[in-house]
Amino acid sequence: MDKKTFVTKGQLEEIIKQYPTPFHLYDEKGIRENAARLREAFSWNKGFKEYFAVKATPNPYILQILRECGCGTDCSSATELMLSDGVGFSGREIMFSSNNTPAGEFKLADSLGAIINLDDITHIGYVEQELGRIPEVISCRYNPGGLFAISNEIMDNPGDAKYGMTTEQLFRAFSILKEKGAQEFGIHAFLASNTVTNDYYPALAKILFEVAVRLKEETGVSVSFINLSGGIGIAYRPDQEPNDIAAIGEGVKKAYEEVLVPAGMGEVAIYTELGRFMLGPYGCLVSTAIHEKHTHKEYIGLDACAVDLMRPAMYGAYHHITVMGKEDAPCACKYDVTGSLCENNDKFAVDRMLPKILVGDLLVIHDTGAHGFSMGYNYNGKLKSAELLLKEDGTVQMIRRAETPQDYFATLDGCEMMKKYL
Ligand SMILES: *Cc1c(COP(=O)(O)O)cnc(C)c1O
Repeated sequence: MDKKTFVTKGQLEEIIKQYPTPFHLYDEKGIRENAARLREAFSWNKGFKEYFAVKATPNPYILQILRECGCGTDCSSATELMLSDGVGFSGREIMFSSNNTPAGEFKLADSLGAIINLDDITHIGYVEQELGRIPEVISCRYNPGGLFAISNEIMDNPGDAKYGMTTEQLFRAFSILKEKGAQEFGIHAFLASNTVTNDYYPALAKILFEVAVRLKEETGVSVSFINLSGGIGIAYRPDQEPNDIAAIGEGVKKAYEEVLVPAGMGEVAIYTELGRFMLGPYGCLVSTAIHEKHTHKEYIGLDACAVDLMRPAMYGAYHHITVMGKEDAPCACKYDVTGSLCENNDKFAVDRMLPKILVGDLLVIHDTGAHGFSMGYNYNGKLKSAELLLKEDGTVQMIRRAETPQDYFATLDGCEMMKKYL
């Protein structure tokens, strides 16, 4: 399948008159339509709520759009909690799903009234000591261990993941929490990442629903919500079939009716904590080709680098590239498309067949809306790019300016030697 950009070459040429490349661009219309599809897919569940994983795209303007779409936030750090608070999320609109959590972050989450999702059984005592009590509403993160497979296909390796409690710990944790006065309970699990199959959520849901029924029978704890967390993936590659969220919602409903309803648990709310699915396809990195190099391989050098998008360097992740204005040209040239870091893994694509690229061409790197800008860093003293929002009315708003050298040096706190740059 052809992967299309959500912005045209003409639009981009207008945008770059005001905002130089590189920048991340987000598509408000796409974000809203996708959020509506998710809501519709789970409309059968009265308490359904999506808690957007803030780490995917920690920008308040994006969070505000999602808030208008009925989403809450899922946070795992103090600053993500502050972002949520700043945008106006409060109380049960915030999920705090962190791990190896510092005391101060539990306190901040609690002060905002967030739902705390405990990653480990030892955190019960830790939280009780820090807060002076056990929160009334509490969730526990589950990790059944082993390999997670769907009809013989291994999806991921929870047994090797640092997150969550074993089955035995989970049951013990809920008994302890109940004894200590918690009133309302939830279960959470994240067993596979970036799944491009409509079967992941239903399979995960069935496991969690069965655990919830056993929990009720064996400990008397009846959970009121089940959090399927993140993990619904996107089709980064043009040959992948994107997930069908309506089919995923139906699959979860079927498991719900098979397992929870007969156990008298037909009131349980379903929560999700999607990041990639909510934003991934609705953002792109726009960059300009600034050099071509012909040595042992053919290279195209961009004005963006791994600092703007780390996934290819970090995981060898595929991100589709469109050379704007050459959408229909034959992909006759094999390129490594590189950034400028002094790291040989700073390549957006390796041996990629693309149309012939000239210096000055605009390249759109697809699917950077989640885990794109947010993973950025400052290696080589490179500065982070701007974030722009393409609004529904076609206008563009800068929602974060590009970093300046002053930003980079700011933490030197008035250092005399750097005075002329501060
Ligand atoms: C990262 C994360 C998510 C979101 O994951 P996606 O792959 O972006 O859907 C949700 N919940 C938790 C606890 C996470 O760490």
